[in-house]
Amino acid sequence: MTERRLVPLIFERSTPGRRGYRLPELDVPEVPVAELIPEEFLREEAPALPEVSELEVVRHYTQLSRLNHGVDVGFYPLGSCTMKYNPRVHEDVTGMPGFAAIHPYQPEETVQGAMELMYNLGEYLATISGLHATTLQPAAGAHGELTGLLVIKAYHKKRGEDHRREMIIPDSAHGTNPASCAMVGYKVIEVPSDERGGVNVEALRGLVGPNTAGLMLTNPNTLGLFDENICEIAKIVHDAGGLLYYDGANANAIMGIARPGDMGFDVVHFNLHKTFSTPHGGGGPGAGPIVVCKDLAQFLPGPVVKKDGDKYRFVMPENSIGRVGSFYGNFLVYAKAYAYIRSHGPEGLREVSETAVLHANYMMNKLKDIYHLPYDRTCMHEFVLSGSWQKDENGVRTLDIAKRLLDHGYHAPTVYFPMVVDEAIMIEPTETEPKSTLDEFIEVMRQIAEEAKENPELLKTAPHTTPLKRLDEARAARQPVLRWEKPE
Ligand SMILES: *Cc1c(COP(=O)(O)O)cnc(C)c1O
Repeated sequence: MTERRLVPLIFERSTPGRRGYRLPELDVPEVPVAELIPEEFLREEAPALPEVSELEVVRHYTQLSRLNHGVDVGFYPLGSCTMKYNPRVHEDVTGMPGFAAIHPYQPEETVQGAMELMYNLGEYLATISGLHATTLQPAAGAHGELTGLLVIKAYHKKRGEDHRREMIIPDSAHGTNPASCAMVGYKVIEVPSDERGGVNVEALRGLVGPNTAGLMLTNPNTLGLFDENICEIAKIVHDAGGLLYYDGANANAIMGIARPGDMGFDVVHFNLHKTFSTPHGGGGPGAGPIVVCKDLAQFLPGPVVKKDGDKYRFVMPENSIGRVGSFYGNFLVYAKAYAYIRSHGPEGLREVSETAVLHANYMMNKLKDIYHLPYDRTCMHEFVLSGSWQKDENGVRTLDIAKRLLDHGYHAPTVYFPMVVDEAIMIEPTETEPKSTLDEFIEVMRQIAEEAKENPELLKTAPHTTPLKRLDEARAARQPVLRWEKPE
């Protein structure tokens, strides 16, 4: 291939004998490798590792990092993902040896501090959700959904109602919701949205019945709208014998303001890596704890931390569904969420949500004259525009608008989701951006709408300033090249 590489591959820079590290002097007797490792596990040939200096390694990774957009580089209005800034103090906290250097096999009495942190975090999440008992174990939001649904399934089974296998989900739901239902063997029953973007209550009435396991809902939903009928919805589902699952992946609008437990929900999951400020987006570790009502606590996966006088113990709940992860989950993510909650306090968390909602409403109102706003209501932490005017009038699609934003140094918003909005553009500014960033972004969005009229080609061929131009996304997903192969 003759393509110019963006970053010289470190493997190709290798110079025999060059080193970027120095090992300490050997202070134990030298033993031949063959005596330590059984022969069948030994390689015949040493692997072709690059031999490079420290400087070359630093340059390689720094250059790679500059090809990416991140929240440390610029605004990241990716709707539903809550790409807020993650305070650096969290990294200091997780680097403390009492957190970073402990081992899951350590006896309980030697890790009481870590267990106290887990216990308190569980209590904080219970308080924030208005529910009763927490497990921190699930490793992500979708994993929390799976866990919550397994708990619901165990509940129905214990009551002799294992035939309840239908889960009702609105058409605006996050894609993980129906996927999680399929994973536990539930049938998905879709409930349509009404003209205000909420659950169509009359339709819901017709969908519940003796086979209803429950309803899964995000509130505010993926349109960024709060469902005002939530108490009525909860009643309909409970009266039919079902339970309510709250997808709280993104709880950025409700902290200290509204509690899923008060709305009638029985199970909620949180994404610590969204609302509670753990860096995410690159596939790094996350956590999707679930909190449940009193009746469901007996089914939680274990071990969970219990407090016994002033001692903490790991226990398995009575009718536990078992483990859903190894050991105790992603502990350092808990430490970050704990630091985040403690550093804000109850008032601070409420302010986070109020600011997130204010930012979204400010931006929405500054853009709705030039981009179609299908649901023109006060939004919560995010809002959904449509590129339909630009499509109809200028032949420019939402994808082109998203790509053009990259030229201005912004990450694109979430596009073509939720599916109930044509040419959707889902924007979540978060609370951590200053007003100046919001204003700059608004200005650029307005400028792009102008360009759509005057020079649609500019948008259709965007991006122009990024290291790579428009990619063949289907091919990149289907035939990814993830390994470097040594040239022959
Ligand atoms: C992000 C998100 C999820 C999934 O969370 P993961 O940690 O990516 O599995 C589920 N529901 C909603 C509404 C989300 O925004």
